[in-house]
Amino acid sequence: MHLTDIWKRNIEEYGPYPLLLFEGKEYTNIDCDEWSSRLARVLVERGVRSGDRVVVTMPNGPEVIWAFSAVVKAGAVVVPVLPLLQAHELRHILLDCQPKAVLTTEWLISKVKEAAEGLLSSPQLFTLDEADSPHSLFHTMKRTDGSAFSVPVGEEETAALFYTSGTTGKPKGVLLTHRNLCSNAEHAAEIAKRLPVHTKRVSLGVLPFSHAFGFTMMNVALLLGEQVVLLPYFEPKKVLEAIERYQVAHTAMVPAMFHALYHCPEADQYDTSSLIACVSGSASLPPQLAEAFERKFGCLILEGYGLSEAAPIVTATDPTKPVKRGSVGLPLPGVQVAVVDEHGNRLPPNEVGELIVSGPNVFHGYYGREEESREVLRGGWLYTGDMARIDEDGYVFIVDRKKDVIIRGGFNIYPRDIEELLMSHPDVLEAGVVGVPSPKMGEEVAAYVVVRRGAQVTEEELIEFCQKRVAKYKSPRFLKKVGYLPKNIIGKIDKKKLREWASEFIP
Ligand code: ATP
Repeated sequence: MHLTDIWKRNIEEYGPYPLLLFEGKEYTNIDCDEWSSRLARVLVERGVRSGDRVVVTMPNGPEVIWAFSAVVKAGAVVVPVLPLLQAHELRHILLDCQPKAVLTTEWLISKVKEAAEGLLSSPQLFTLDEADSPHSLFHTMKRTDGSAFSVPVGEEETAALFYTSGTTGKPKGVLLTHRNLCSNAEHAAEIAKRLPVHTKRVSLGVLPFSHAFGFTMMNVALLLGEQVVLLPYFEPKKVLEAIERYQVAHTAMVPAMFHALYHCPEADQYDTSSLIACVSGSASLPPQLAEAFERKFGCLILEGYGLSEAAPIVTATDPTKPVKRGSVGLPLPGVQVAVVDEHGNRLPPNEVGELIVSGPNVFHGYYGREEESREVLRGGWLYTGDMARIDEDGYVFIVDRKKDVIIRGGFNIYPRDIEELLMSHPDVLEAGVVGVPSPKMGEEVAAYVVVRRGAQVTEEELIEFCQKRVAKYKSPRFLKKVGYLPKNIIGKIDKKKLREWASEFIP
């Protein structure tokens, strides 16, 4: 299957319907398909050829959906980039993938120019805004034929190049084929179909579509014939307003969004009873937050796990099976998972080791990084770098990232365990735990916590709270209350930054 087949299937199966709702306007699936064919023709006229990389960096809106589809129709490789990246981060991507063109929006153009300044092969810069601007393709697109168009490309060819969020190093370009992305969307849609439905299937697109998780959720919505309410960015009140106004049944968010929505002071003022289920992914969702959220909003939370290298979904909670809190569910249909020790030997149920994955969603390598590709792709398996256990029923529990494990006096400590323990304290809102080098013990545990406004709990009391509940060697040696935790653009705790902070504890 080819990415353009997902659009064809949507139109054939569901006929014309208002697919996107954005800022009070409706865009049918036919409108979107025509706009993307127009743009694809224009891109080919401007010299974009099969295999060329085209960066798309725009906030959520109909244009980003047209742009993704147009690049693929032109036979090129779409490089979705989060619009909030800073110029130097975007520059890293431009240098790495040498795109033929960048599709963006007027208000980002100066940043894109700054990022592209002085590059050997400068990409062409285009926007899709209606405004008169030398970069805008809008008026040209309007005059161009919108009938079906696509440059034939095989399903094993690269469709997209996603950059990892760079939590553990410089972002790497993950090459994903049409087959990788389509099989993942189809299998995720199979699970999503098992959810109860209202008369209307309305979902909320608040995750950035330029992230692999958001990208796939859009393809899932097309396969299920859903209407998608688009929000350009996450703002708790706007999310609640949209749920009430459009009777949203489903959405997908990252844990930081669940956290913000749960703590939004105006949450009770909105009718969110239409909400059936919310998918959480991309980082661990503290079980206490999941339970409290379900109670407050009367909906199910289905946790999933994935990584860009797996296009991206590996496991998901099946709504027809018992939910095991703390688990990221079962592997998607067609996907195999196992847990191995450091020598690659399979471990029995419930033993912690590295999670490995195989299936039609697994990527073929990083762009221009053969050595790193060989490190993670071994014997037909993707080595995820995540420590996990699989229980006797096949449910996967992510323990932590291998690189974040703290080794103190020879014993492994998983920061996530301590973060969750700290968050179970009634005064703690968020916690981030890292290791700091120690000449005596190898590493020591350092914790940063954000406490509720007005809470009187002291740092010593929080250390004591941990000491009473876990083995003493696991308790934070250092703990500091802070106003916020450093996070990356999609809301994951930035452990690199946190380690920099924690250098204050090195004697
Ligand atoms: P980099 O490879 O540059 O460090 P990254 O790993 O953050 O970036 P992504 O593909 O965006 O790149 O994120 C995938 C990672 O996110 C997984 O390997 C895992 O560590 C984490 N993750 C995803 N979903 C979950 C989840 N439900 N629970 C815990 N961790 C998760």
